Amino acid sequence: MTSASPPDGGRTAGGRPAGRRPAPRALLLTFLLVVTMAGTGGWHLSSTAAFDDRDITLINVVLPMIRAGIRARRHHRKVAPAVLQAALGGLMMREAMARAERAEDKSAFKAWRAKLMMNVGASLAESAGGDLEFRMDLGPLWLVTRDGRLDWRIGLHGTIAPLLNMTDGARVSWPQTFKYGTLAFKRGRNTDGTIGTRGALAYSNANNFITNDDGSHAGHELIHTFQYRRDAFLSPRLTRLWPALEEHLENHLGHRWLDDTGWGVNWAAQCTWARLTGHDRDFEIPLEKEAYYLADNIEF
Ligand SMILES: [Zn+2]
Repeated sequence: MTSASPPDGGRTAGGRPAGRRPAPRALLLTFLLVVTMAGTGGWHLSSTAAFDDRDITLINVVLPMIRAGIRARRHHRKVAPAVLQAALGGLMMREAMARAERAEDKSAFKAWRAKLMMNVGASLAESAGGDLEFRMDLGPLWLVTRDGRLDWRIGLHGTIAPLLNMTDGARVSWPQTFKYGTLAFKRGRNTDGTIGTRGALAYSNANNFITNDDGSHAGHELIHTFQYRRDAFLSPRLTRLWPALEEHLENHLGHRWLDDTGWGVNWAAQCTWARLTGHDRDFEIPLEKEAYYLADNIEF
């Protein structure tokens, strides 16, 4: 989200646990532990109010490295190459995020280069400790490699969220969609320059975003879409927290769908933490601090 009036400073805490295929109970316990520690201040991403490069590196590089090490051990692979692969992927993700800064003032070529770098980096990081696979989100569709050939899947969140936007009155902006490689929407401005009803200048729900007719603040929202790609593997997803859902979806939707709900789960957990601790979810959760720091050079 990019809001009209930032509040005074703020403290931060939070983060996301790593893990791709741990036992659901172990994953749920890890998730609850991190949320609890974040809520009680047991683990601060920053010890002070400002969100900085150290936090960006911790989230995008260190956490994927830890996850890759655990995954390699579980798959009986060598740990060191897996951790190195995740580090390389993580550095690419961090660089891609930095390149999304003020994307609204840059060319489509630069936006696509950042998106490709993000997806290559995320693919390297997420498949470290297992077989190398490439996955890339393109709006509701995902390109995925399977056994050396390219295939496609439908993102669960990536399909539902745009439909909700359309029913909420947002219109697809095709020039922006093609510029950024993900579904972009536009809405008319209110008299105070905001759009929608929450006082936002622009906002995102995972892999899509909504701006005014001019596409203002698209760079900030593009960071959120990159977070969506990262959290598709780095955050717990609905089917990990609730394994029965996976079977239910396969019975009704077949094997073509893909669980891309990591960003939504992470965002909901961080908003819950904000509500419990009296913080502002539009500015003081790590997902927003990261976007403001990278895209707007604002530190909360
Ligand atoms: Zn935001």
